[in-house]
Order: sequence, then C-alpha cells, then structure tokens
Amino acid sequence: MLETIAAGAAIAGVLSARWNWWRPRARGLPTLMYHKVGDPPPGSKLAKLWVSAADFRAQMAYLKRHGYTSLLFAELRDAELGRRPLPERPVLITFDDGYANNQEVALPIMRESGMKGNIFLVYETMDRHNAWHDPASEPWVRMLTWSAVEEMQREGLVEFGSHTMRHPDLARTPLDQVRWELCESKKRLEDKLGREMIGFAYPYGAGAFVPEVRALAREAGYRYDFCIKQGISSWPWDPGSGPLKRLFVRGDDYMLDFHLNLTRGRARL
Ligand SMILES: [Zn+2]
Repeated sequence: MLETIAAGAAIAGVLSARWNWWRPRARGLPTLMYHKVGDPPPGSKLAKLWVSAADFRAQMAYLKRHGYTSLLFAELRDAELGRRPLPERPVLITFDDGYANNQEVALPIMRESGMKGNIFLVYETMDRHNAWHDPASEPWVRMLTWSAVEEMQREGLVEFGSHTMRHPDLARTPLDQVRWELCESKKRLEDKLGREMIGFAYPYGAGAFVPEVRALAREAGYRYDFCIKQGISSWPWDPGSGPLKRLFVRGDDYMLDFHLNLTRGRARL
C-alpha cells in the first residue's frame, strides 16, 4: 500500500515537472493552431511546426471520440448571432500560412473523422512557396494553389481567412503598410473566393497586442482575430478582452499534451 502511494507520488512528481495536469478544466472556445501536417523536410529547423500524419489522425480521432464539433468561422458567427445553436463541445481547428500539405495530408484525415477546419492564407504566396522564411532555416515548401482552395471551398469542409499579403512582422511595420496588409488581403481574398473573410491571424502573432495594430485589424472588418498566445478564450468572447487565444499543437507533443491543451488551456509548464 505504502509502495503504491509512494509510486503514485513519484509519478505525480514526474508529471508535474512537465505537464499541467493539476489545473482545473477550462471552459470556453478551444482553438487549435496547426501549421504543416506531414514529415518535415531535411534541414528544417522549425520541425515542431510539423505535425505528422499519424499524430494528426490520432488528434482528430480524439476530437471525434470526445464529442467535439469543429466549426467553420461562419458557423461560429452564426452561433454567436443566435442563428444556430452552439454545439455542446465546440472546437476551432485552424492552420496558419496555407501550405499545400493542408489539403494533401490533413484534409483526407479530417474527412475521415468528420472534422472541419479554417486556413489562414498569405495572399502573395498562393501558388508559390513560403517566401518569408529564410530557406537556410526552413526549406521552401509548396503553398496551396488557387484551384486547390476553390476545390476545398466547394467541398465545404474548409473556410479561409487572411494571414496578410506577405507575412510581415506587423509589430515592426509602419502603420500605413499594416493597414494595406490587412485591408488588401481581405479585399483580394474576398474578390477571389466570393466569401467574406471573417477570420484573421497575426503572422508570428506579432502586433496582436500592439493597440494601434489591433485597432487596424478590427477596423479592416475581421470579426475574429487570432493571436498565438496559449490558452482558451472564454465564450461568448468579448473582443475588448484581446484577440482569441489558441492552442499550439507541436510536432513533439504527446496525446497527453493534446488532452491537457483542450481541457486545461495549456499542457506544458
Ligand atoms: Zn504564419
């Protein structure tokens, strides 16, 4: 008996050194943040931004098993406006940047598990590659093509949002240029896709907490703006409380991290 207690205490000690399992459950709107799904190319120094297909499949299966309903931005807006009920366990699945692997690797897995997602596009990189990265630290990979985006939009499992024109650090960009990045990408994406761009994600999360930058994002007309601050925003959300928080799903996460992120708002200490 004593040994069992001692062993239990030892395990709790090990877990406490790395995970937040002891936190109370968080309520609100969990928003998962992904970037690339698949295997990182040789030479990638940002491997934690790559989630393997196997891990992604396990994560989508977890959502399904635990009764989560994934929402598109438009569905969230409709729930917020009372046009449809909010599901009992809502979750937003988001992908930053718009990589081709979102369609080639992630989408078939989402289709299998009945999940929907939202992808933030960088307008000028469409049909091209992630030009904002230094290829010495992150090899260039293919971004989504316009035809892929249109195809995904037709299928209805994915909604698109803006991640600016060129993926700049908005905290270090003159405000006139910030305005252009925010408004021009919204307008051009809307012209191209024939849908309102409801969601916006700050590249690198930068500028999300700079009052002038955030004011411009709100003025541009985005209903939901997303930062990279770890956590679960309360719902209903008060835009005045700051941008929506997200749960960064890392390539080296265990399922325990995923579970704690969703239920506690963070996994790691
Ligand atoms: Zn980005």
